[in-house]
Amino acid sequence: MSNNAFSLVWLRNDLRVYDNQALFEACQSGLPVVALFIATPDSWQQHFMAPVKQDFIRRRVVQLQTELAALNIPLVAIEGSHYSAVPELMQQLIKAGAELLYGHTEYELRERARDRKVSDIFAKAGKACFWFDRKAVMPPGSILSKTGGIYQIFTPFKKTWLARLRETGVRCFPKPKALPEIKLQLPEFSVMQQGDGSSAAYAVDELHALEQMRQFCRDKAAFYQAERDFPALAGTSSLSAYLAIGVISAQQCINRLQMEAANDWDKEKSGAAVWLSELVWRDFYHHILMAFPELIKHKAFQKDTDGIVWPNDAALFQAWCQGKTGYPIVDAAMRQLNQTGWMHNRLRMIVASFLVKDLHIDWRWGEQYFMSKLIDGDFAANNGGWQWAASTGTDAAPYFRIFNPVTQSERFDPDGVFIKRMLPELADIPKKQIHWPHPLPMWNEYVKPVVDHSKARLKTLELFHTVKKPQ
Ligand code: FAD
Repeated sequence: MSNNAFSLVWLRNDLRVYDNQALFEACQSGLPVVALFIATPDSWQQHFMAPVKQDFIRRRVVQLQTELAALNIPLVAIEGSHYSAVPELMQQLIKAGAELLYGHTEYELRERARDRKVSDIFAKAGKACFWFDRKAVMPPGSILSKTGGIYQIFTPFKKTWLARLRETGVRCFPKPKALPEIKLQLPEFSVMQQGDGSSAAYAVDELHALEQMRQFCRDKAAFYQAERDFPALAGTSSLSAYLAIGVISAQQCINRLQMEAANDWDKEKSGAAVWLSELVWRDFYHHILMAFPELIKHKAFQKDTDGIVWPNDAALFQAWCQGKTGYPIVDAAMRQLNQTGWMHNRLRMIVASFLVKDLHIDWRWGEQYFMSKLIDGDFAANNGGWQWAASTGTDAAPYFRIFNPVTQSERFDPDGVFIKRMLPELADIPKKQIHWPHPLPMWNEYVKPVVDHSKARLKTLELFHTVKKPQ
């Protein structure tokens, strides 16, 4: 072992100091620790990662450098352009003294291939790698049916998942203790570029994110069931951006929920239990992606639905993207996405259903557009959500049950508060007409509806009947 030997922690979607098993174990290795982050904008681009998410990552990495410096751990942040640059960078780090590599497993196909290559490089150099599976709370492959099969339906998956949680609880790793100060000789790398600040609405301090999560569990989780479907209310946790890049972990969320809602988290239909269910959905889609890796190639989970020939009208797609469909709830939602990089879950379901079942556009177009805009873009959750809405996925909404966007709007934004917030052109429309303002004389100020929902619905049924027996 060289005098310059160190343990390398490769950070990716685990940009945190608390509950970071890879970092924690590296600090136990007895060697000095160097943390590494490699920005790969060309690969990010290929995955359609939103600029706002890229900025959020870059800002978080800079902040993490300060948080790790307090533990005497240098964080080397390299600009690497593409995953293909990673093996060469690893070779250089091995030459510089990287003796052991620590990291967390990723579930996407290209990331897994990249990590296999890196493991081979370390093995060939006689060095060891330690990968920890922590992205999902229960590692993929660990929640199986009685016959050892992968659950393809959420409810039985959740039942087994909850039984496991009751049995084992979740383990969170403490923040490592500061290491002795040490100077290491490291090669000069191309330094990671700064972001453009577009994600400034999100603080990047880890303690801030933990506090937001603690406050949600303490003050708001109890009301989650009652409030979560109303986009005008701040009824959900707004933690998805932090969870997506790992500023906090789902394990920490569950631990905190169990502390703050000790009597409720396991009580069916309580706010806390319903919030926990959302974290189980997060796990479910991770498990599905690991078991069905072809999903990453945007294949439909229900293979027959790949036979549908979607009309894919480009002008209708543009109207949807820009929030100019003439359906107020859809337009307000799309403007929320375009302006903030985030969209409320109820609205994600409404606009996804509208794109596929009212505009007859392939769900993959919407999936990609979401990725290119979302600060919390996550392949498994996004693909799962889109395939659910399009009735092509696991446990999907039945194809013949089609959201009526106007009724959805009346139910979930009854006073039009959210619509008016996002669509100033409708500010003066009375409550009663806000969901469908077109018959009013002033409707001219707002775009005409691009489709007729009742006709569009029938056409959707026809499209599905080309591949499925009518129900
Ligand atoms: P909360 O309601 O407070 O939920 C807590 C956490 O649970 C979320 O932060 C998220 O990590 C997880 N979660 C909640 N709902 C789901 C779900 N249905 N599936 C998986 N995880 C969930 N979520 C993403 O994180 N990234 C995406 O790219 C994404 N794309 C979606 C696309 C569509 C079409 C749909 C219908 C849903 C999508 N979701 C996605 C799920 C969900 O809409 C967001 O997680 C949620 O709106 C984030 O807000 P929140 O943090 O306030 O959530």
